[in-house]
Amino acid sequence: MNPAATVSAGPGPERAPAAAPGDLLRRLRARHGDDPVTHVERVPARPGEPAPWPQWAPEELRAALARRGVVAPWRHQAQAAELAYGGRHVVVATGTASGKSLAYQLPALATLLADPRATVLYLAPTKALAADQLRAVAGLELDGVRPATYDGDTPRAEREWIRRHSRFVLTNPDMLHHGILPGHAHWSGFLRRLAYVVIDECHTYRGVFGSHVAHVLRRLRRQCAKYGRTPVFVLASATSGDPAAAAGRLTGLPVAAVTEDTSPRGGVTFALWEPPLLPSSDAPSPDADLLQVRRSALRETADLLADTVAEGVRTLAFVRSRKGAEVVASNARRALDEAVPGLGDRVAAYRAGYLREERRELERALLHGDLLGLASTNALELGVDLVGLDAVLICGWPGTRASLWQQAGRAGRSGDEALAVLVARDDPLDTYLVHHPEALFGRPVEATVLDPANPYVLAPQLACAAAEAPLTPADLELFGDGAKEAVEELVAAGALRQRPTGWYWRHRERPEVDLRGEGGAPVCVVEASTGRLLGTVDGGSSHFLIHPGAVYLHQGVSYVVDSLDLDDGCALVHAEEPDWSTHARDVTSLSVVSVRSYADAGPVGLFLGEVDVTSQVVSYQRRRIASGEVIDTRPLDLPARELRTVAVWFTLSPQSLAAAGVEAADIPGALHAAEHAAIGLLPLMATCDRWDIGGLSTAVHPDTEAPTVFVYDGHPGGAGFAERAYGTAAAWLRATRDAIAECGCEAGCPSCVQSPKCGNGNNPLSKPDAVRVLDVVLANLPAGDVPAGSGEGAPPAADLPAAPLLPRQDDRTSTDAEVTPGAS
Ligand SMILES: [Zn+2]
Ligand SMILES: [Zn+2]
Repeated sequence: MNPAATVSAGPGPERAPAAAPGDLLRRLRARHGDDPVTHVERVPARPGEPAPWPQWAPEELRAALARRGVVAPWRHQAQAAELAYGGRHVVVATGTASGKSLAYQLPALATLLADPRATVLYLAPTKALAADQLRAVAGLELDGVRPATYDGDTPRAEREWIRRHSRFVLTNPDMLHHGILPGHAHWSGFLRRLAYVVIDECHTYRGVFGSHVAHVLRRLRRQCAKYGRTPVFVLASATSGDPAAAAGRLTGLPVAAVTEDTSPRGGVTFALWEPPLLPSSDAPSPDADLLQVRRSALRETADLLADTVAEGVRTLAFVRSRKGAEVVASNARRALDEAVPGLGDRVAAYRAGYLREERRELERALLHGDLLGLASTNALELGVDLVGLDAVLICGWPGTRASLWQQAGRAGRSGDEALAVLVARDDPLDTYLVHHPEALFGRPVEATVLDPANPYVLAPQLACAAAEAPLTPADLELFGDGAKEAVEELVAAGALRQRPTGWYWRHRERPEVDLRGEGGAPVCVVEASTGRLLGTVDGGSSHFLIHPGAVYLHQGVSYVVDSLDLDDGCALVHAEEPDWSTHARDVTSLSVVSVRSYADAGPVGLFLGEVDVTSQVVSYQRRRIASGEVIDTRPLDLPARELRTVAVWFTLSPQSLAAAGVEAADIPGALHAAEHAAIGLLPLMATCDRWDIGGLSTAVHPDTEAPTVFVYDGHPGGAGFAERAYGTAAAWLRATRDAIAECGCEAGCPSCVQSPKCGNGNNPLSKPDAVRVLDVVLANLPAGDVPAGSGEGAPPAADLPAAPLLPRQDDRTSTDAEVTPGAS
């Protein structure tokens, strides 16, 4: 629906005709001994289902859309537009390129044309998307709409004009939070006439960021209400488990969902690809007795990329980490150069940390056919819309089905069949998915989770609201659970003053609250000898990725970090290409603060509550790139980080474990293995990834006095992941159990119970006992979802010590502070 935003990789010079995806896949498979393909899904082409224009859509708007090539809406667009025009809040949750924008443009623009005073506020998660939408709306050339973007880049001189005259303002939640709401008096004319709030790509508002945005929207609703307005919210989402509930949580309003996609699409041949297990003698083996590993997804993807580029097939490879994208590009370049010197130049890497000019140059090169292969992080997802490729390789499960389809959707020029390949990483979730295609191609189960009740989000947001206008008791209801307590704490802390008319912000300056800031400010990576800025790393990852001694890759060039100054937010590096990679290690302890909810299931207990987690990056390993062999472990001196967060945990009685055949000595390895796999599988239930979650398992935890597995949110105050895990515990642990039991390895591998970020070096681990542990849990837990309110208050044993003891870091406790985005 948005041709202006689409850069199509059309026919370029020296371009081979696109190969039929089936033939191409056959040739790729044939190069392997054991067939690595576990499943091929033919996603058939689908004709569209057009619907008549709604009666109320004015002729002027229909004609403008027709000029843009829209002759009629698809049925789902018309359905969502009707609901919105009728005053219902609505979320349209359909696939990539299904034309979600028309679903909100229709009612919004029809209203602007019918009522010359009405206004519309459009929110996008990124400036780039807002700019695309501006082009689309401006291109309709409708009289009197005067669309304009209003963000950090808008010149001061234009802001006043936009506030007074634009009737379709495009912005982002950060600007709404920092600019529009604090300056609401300047916006009173606009808010007083606000008819629609459009929230595009609303599934990106998840976790802590999503929880902040939920309150920014409540603040917006509060200000509108003061001016007598109750705007209609229209949301656009990728497909997800329960879009109506997620949109309801985000806006705090009842939202109807339109989920049936009736737009036409081209056919895709979608292959699920599992790299082979390496013969044990080839396996890199720091812990010789345990290891059996698969060929790495990065290498496999690099080979596939080289193969497709050699055939002249324009290919985009999506790789999760920035390091990974660099590795895929450089390996593919090397392989191509060995075959035909110079051919490697037609492959490049692309990621978000690059400077703007570098990114534009890569986009241009792919567009003009100078490049045939691009390895990218998902930086492309919300940036320029690069489509029309012949093949897409997805290296590792991208985290959500929304991302998977967004990435796969880059393949296929109109009418042509395209090839998409998901290459599984050596990881429990990836392995589960390539063997359970129904979880990918069937009905979605993962839900977009956020937790507006997070006190670390709620209190600062209430402070912002109070700074905009005093809070009243009615406002507390708007802000939901926990608002009263949070306000009382703000009063006690001296931030708010209570008066008969409400709660007042006491300070002259507004509160400083960053919606995305919990990871800390980004750290600049600077080449010491030249002062050149290479890129940035977010604060939360800096301890792991750019600690002193870390190997850091940029455009295939390797650098070594000389120093990391956390106060200045700057790391100094020098170019050096050692033959090792670096892997940070951390240590973690956990104590239970309170129990929010529990299910008492005989010998098994399931809990949701607050915990305190302390973790510190203490060392890093250097490993040979070629063999994976550990060279040494070097200490680091970085500060510990404290985290009060939400955890889900289960306990089992030692008797039940004995009855299931788990020997006392094997309990630590059984729990540890179950914990790893449970962390790996949680993203099946909620839109998080394993780097958002940490875990700890122990044969006796001082706070539970029983064998216990904890899984916690890696964000202060929790992000909703543990809560979702608690609510869907039976389904989550069933998938965990099956993933372990069905893995073809003997003693455990990264596809089932090993973890890439284990704080204990993947030791001890017992694969068969992990299955026994989970069988005991599943035999006792109620099969359905656990209602969040069950058994609130004190836990059954009620024996939480007043002063929690630190868990011992001994062989009975295994910690996995897997809370950093790392290299894959
Ligand atoms: Zn395995
Ligand atoms: Zn571990």
